[in-house]
Amino acid sequence: MKFLSLGGINEHGRNAFLIESPHHKILLDCGLGEKGELPDFSKIDVSTLNALFLSHSHLDHTGAVGELFKRGFHGQVFLSKPTYDCIGLTNFKPFFLHYQEKRDVFNWLSVKAFRSGHCFGAFGYDIRMEEKTIIYTGDYLEDSIFSCDEIRNLERDVAIVDGAYPADEKCMEDNKSAFLKLITSLGKNIILPLPKNGRGIEVISIFNDHGIPYSIVGEPFFHEEENDYLKKKVDIRPSDNSNILLVADPQLKKKESQDIVAKHPSFSLIFTGTVDEGSVSSYLLGTRKNTFFQRINVHQTHLEAEALIKKNQFKKAVIFHNKETKEKTSFSF
Ligand SMILES: [Zn+2]
Ligand SMILES: [Zn+2]
Repeated sequence: MKFLSLGGINEHGRNAFLIESPHHKILLDCGLGEKGELPDFSKIDVSTLNALFLSHSHLDHTGAVGELFKRGFHGQVFLSKPTYDCIGLTNFKPFFLHYQEKRDVFNWLSVKAFRSGHCFGAFGYDIRMEEKTIIYTGDYLEDSIFSCDEIRNLERDVAIVDGAYPADEKCMEDNKSAFLKLITSLGKNIILPLPKNGRGIEVISIFNDHGIPYSIVGEPFFHEEENDYLKKKVDIRPSDNSNILLVADPQLKKKESQDIVAKHPSFSLIFTGTVDEGSVSSYLLGTRKNTFFQRINVHQTHLEAEALIKKNQFKKAVIFHNKETKEKTSFSF
């Protein structure tokens, strides 16, 4: 059997991993790169893919799905209901998986999805394909506001493990304290561009815990009242008169979000997640006064990924989602 990366190994986005036997082919995620680059589809005949497993809604995992269909994909798509609702693609009939439920979906493949702690509906996949076992963490964080089914003591042939942050990145607890310190030292008048699913909810929960009022400007944040993906319920109750503005647009792609920043030149701007190369966010981080970067973790660090691998027995393991690695982009197992 063969593992082949079409993107996502030794780079930050564009996650798309092929698992191929002489008889069957599956793709794990199908995302866009930081500058919107497609996965390297020239490496495969898309029409021969049997199935696509989507871990979660973010564009670096799902942004190229439309293009995959355009190029002739007609296999089954597996994902969670919240992921399907979030990505808004309606050109395929979804096959919903539920976490911790083992399904024999083909006579040559069984799968158990698990919660990966990254955002609403985020899954990792534990797969048996023919005689081999493969675990894909998706974007994964145990120390998170989202529930995570921890990966422990598993024997698998291959593990594909998220380690998106550099080895020297601080853990979630330390970054949370540094974030609160920064917010306190700046006082009021702060703009925070955040993704509406995932880190946005994490930041709102930090504010709730510390009684810090905030306003939401532009698009609302994605939220489900009752769901089993959150470790604790997060009330989204923006205040009308707070000067901490949450903008649901991390790379400030929309004109509406850019206008909010332009209208508040005296406000501090804080980025808390990966700032894509070539984005408006990246430009502002390099040029604007009172502009800061303070990570709020939604991935494992490279060190945490290595530690996770050691807590299990994997014959082969590859760390993805990290520009600084020098991992093999293909291997047999
Ligand atoms: Zn993600
Ligand atoms: Zn990702």
